[in-house]
Amino acid sequence: MSKTAPNPADLLTGLAQSLASGAIRTIDLTHTLDPDFPVIILPPEFGQCARFRMEEICAYDHRGPGWKWNNFTCGEHTGTHFDAPMHWVSGRDLPNNSVDTIPVDKFVGPVCVIDCSDGAAKDEDFELTPEIIIAWEKEHGRIPEDSWVLMRTDWSKRRGEAYLNMREDGPHSPGPTPDAMRLLVEERGIRGFGTETVGTDAGQGVHYTPPYPAHYILHGAGRYGLQCLNNLDQLPPTGAMLVSAPLKIKQGTGSPLRVMALVANGGASS
Ligand code: MN
Repeated sequence: MSKTAPNPADLLTGLAQSLASGAIRTIDLTHTLDPDFPVIILPPEFGQCARFRMEEICAYDHRGPGWKWNNFTCGEHTGTHFDAPMHWVSGRDLPNNSVDTIPVDKFVGPVCVIDCSDGAAKDEDFELTPEIIIAWEKEHGRIPEDSWVLMRTDWSKRRGEAYLNMREDGPHSPGPTPDAMRLLVEERGIRGFGTETVGTDAGQGVHYTPPYPAHYILHGAGRYGLQCLNNLDQLPPTGAMLVSAPLKIKQGTGSPLRVMALVANGGASS
């Protein structure tokens, strides 16, 4: 190795030192898996996603005197979770479209956060539009190819029935328009899109063309989704690194997961 070439190992040593010193912080973007955490509710003619359930096997007792453990059950799309391209009909025939076949390097990557919290506070059907994305880019720079984009709404602070926000005509929660998704996927080439709500789409997303545009456009292009994210208000608009690896379920369409962000102290890079 020449004297001037950087030693690749130094990159990881520097990261480890920065994590140890607190110069880089790790932020948890995950809700606790809990039987009370809401799951999406579809119209009654469709199959439903299961809530998280935990069953005690033993607890230092006659069933096992020296240990404690549990069995749990849930849906692939329960709690803070990852959506694979296979989740949607538009992505059903793509290669590497299930959680077990997605290349693992897609589970670590840069993230942009678009703050829609003011709008979502005033309008529960708030739409992320291309105009909002372009305005964000004027301030923070162009969204880099192959990065995650997260829509911050502060919806994660809602509890109980206010989270799904069901009405007679279905759920009401913020989300992206079809044109916003086309801009992000087709023109910016994003890796994935994430939200604080129960889906990547708006509660009333069935009424767009195509219906559920985030799911349809993301997964049809082989991109990924993250939902029920937490603590997005602790992220800078740019410069954080997202760690989001789903369980390796054979032919799985999604999975609960622990989502974390690495953030350099001092916050945003712009
Ligand atoms: Mn999902």
